[in-house]
Amino acid sequence: MNAIEFIDFSCYYKNKKEYITALDHLNFSVEQGELFVILGASGSGKTTMLKSVLGLCSYLSGALYIDGVSIDDFKLQNSNIGFIRQEPDLYPHLTVYENIAFPLRTIHTPQSEVDKRVEEVAALMDISWLLTRKPKQLSGGQQQRVAIARALVKNPVMILFDEPFSNIDPALHTQLRLLVKKIHDLYRCTMLFVTHDKTDAFSLADRVLILEQGRMLALGTPQTLMEKGFLE
Ligand code: ADP
Ligand code: MG
Repeated sequence: MNAIEFIDFSCYYKNKKEYITALDHLNFSVEQGELFVILGASGSGKTTMLKSVLGLCSYLSGALYIDGVSIDDFKLQNSNIGFIRQEPDLYPHLTVYENIAFPLRTIHTPQSEVDKRVEEVAALMDISWLLTRKPKQLSGGQQQRVAIARALVKNPVMILFDEPFSNIDPALHTQLRLLVKKIHDLYRCTMLFVTHDKTDAFSLADRVLILEQGRMLALGTPQTLMEKGFLE
């Protein structure tokens, strides 16, 4: 079974009496465990695509399946999908430890298990020494590491990244990109990684979908897209 399947899928926003088409007749699927990159300029529909997968879009046509379940029947609260936004949206009043632990608290995980999981993901993200701080005492890159740790703590079946490194300076961006690759190697879960950065696409992806104004411009491995001149 595919992790995600878009069939003739379109998504619209309502603006007064008009409908704006944000995604236009998409037809593709993402395999289980694939690191799938969506590349496109601002406004091309990347965030809308992630919101669709989370069941957060109201006006749809066509079909979309998540692990074989139609988006019409999909319940976000029953799913185990990690979502990392462009701006790290940490809870300001909680410590780094409690931010990461939060998804486990909501399912009443025993404290010993919370400690174990938080320590594991914090070590992986190289933030163990920051666990007692509050978010405002962290740099942007550190905050994004915490947001990724929080997304990992429940062992998600899928992780969605929405341009997570676009506000991060280039040297750190390279480090964090390597970290995403490492997470994928360790967790082997399906990942959708949205970016406008061709280097992200080329260095991370099993396959890349290029979006342009809501439409599929090209889909393939980085190698085939390079050969066709799309990733230059
Ligand atoms: P991207 O993430 O690639 O920058 P988006 O998915 O945010 O693109 O937006 C795709 C299109 O949908 C754009 O034309 C944008 O203006 C429009 N759009 C996004 N969100 C809304 C909204 N809440 N209401 C109306 N139009 C929207
Ligand atoms: Mg966006």
